[in-house]
Amino acid sequence: MSKAIATISKTREIMEKHGYHTKKKFGQNFLTEPSIVERIAQSIPQADPLLVIEIGPGIGALTEQLAKVADHVIAYEIDDQLLPILADTLSEYPQVEVRHRDFLQVNLKEELQPWIEEGYTIAVAANLPYYITTPLLFHIFESGAPIHSITVMMQKEVADRFCAEVSTKDYNALSVISQYRADVKMVMKVPKEVFVPKPNVDSAVIQFQLREYKQVVDKEEAFFALVKSCFTQRRKTILNNLSNYLGNKEKARTYLEKAGIDPAQRAETCSLDTFIQLYEEMDL
Ligand code: SAM
Repeated sequence: MSKAIATISKTREIMEKHGYHTKKKFGQNFLTEPSIVERIAQSIPQADPLLVIEIGPGIGALTEQLAKVADHVIAYEIDDQLLPILADTLSEYPQVEVRHRDFLQVNLKEELQPWIEEGYTIAVAANLPYYITTPLLFHIFESGAPIHSITVMMQKEVADRFCAEVSTKDYNALSVISQYRADVKMVMKVPKEVFVPKPNVDSAVIQFQLREYKQVVDKEEAFFALVKSCFTQRRKTILNNLSNYLGNKEKARTYLEKAGIDPAQRAETCSLDTFIQLYEEMDL
């Protein structure tokens, strides 16, 4: 069996063979530790048949392991120079399909329709480009596609925010909005030394298990905007932030009191249910 792509020697060999240099503008930090890519692939909840969508395969380090746990893999890569490399490194895996696309422009629901109709369970996995971690995740959350789980590497600091519980220092609008959609858990922490090139910060892999899609609030965009507004200035009270958002302090106080929220509280002490309660008292 040939050597795993996710080793430092194989990564160098592939890049030299193809004269490839990583690009900062695409957030390229390649994984060079086989045990980590294996663990990411193994942590994806199993299903039969399983389709895994990968965002940004790079030279195929994680893709190779995804091919071992999935019936089919669709990998979306923005960098055209990586396409001939992937055709070479993944030639032994006919179940992998690489699509040259900007993932943010992909209409997931439409592209996945044939797989949905064939009864595939769909999971997303990636070592995300850090410069667009949040937009990529929201693109999935807002796609309306029936994604079962999302297992992704990101900067540890951002991962902590996604996983944070109410009344902890990392709890913010991201925590509330992602918890509205999914149960989130930490899979593992990853030191910066296992990437080429080495980023400035450590990373972590987290997993979102999406709930059966159910719209809890009638206008989700308005709900998300409300949550974000309450965290605008973290050190200020929820009354202060909400007053600025509504441009009316008395209205803000009334809504908060009706929702059973002390106006002197900070947003970080409000659970998802409390935000839903507040939204329902308002006419947004
Ligand atoms: N999966 C590889 C690994 O773990 O070694 C590469 C991960 S690297 C952090 C991020 C990858 O995402 C790169 O291959 C990059 O070119 C790709 N990428 C960046 N922006 C993208 C976008 N908008 N759509 C699709 N791929 C993107």
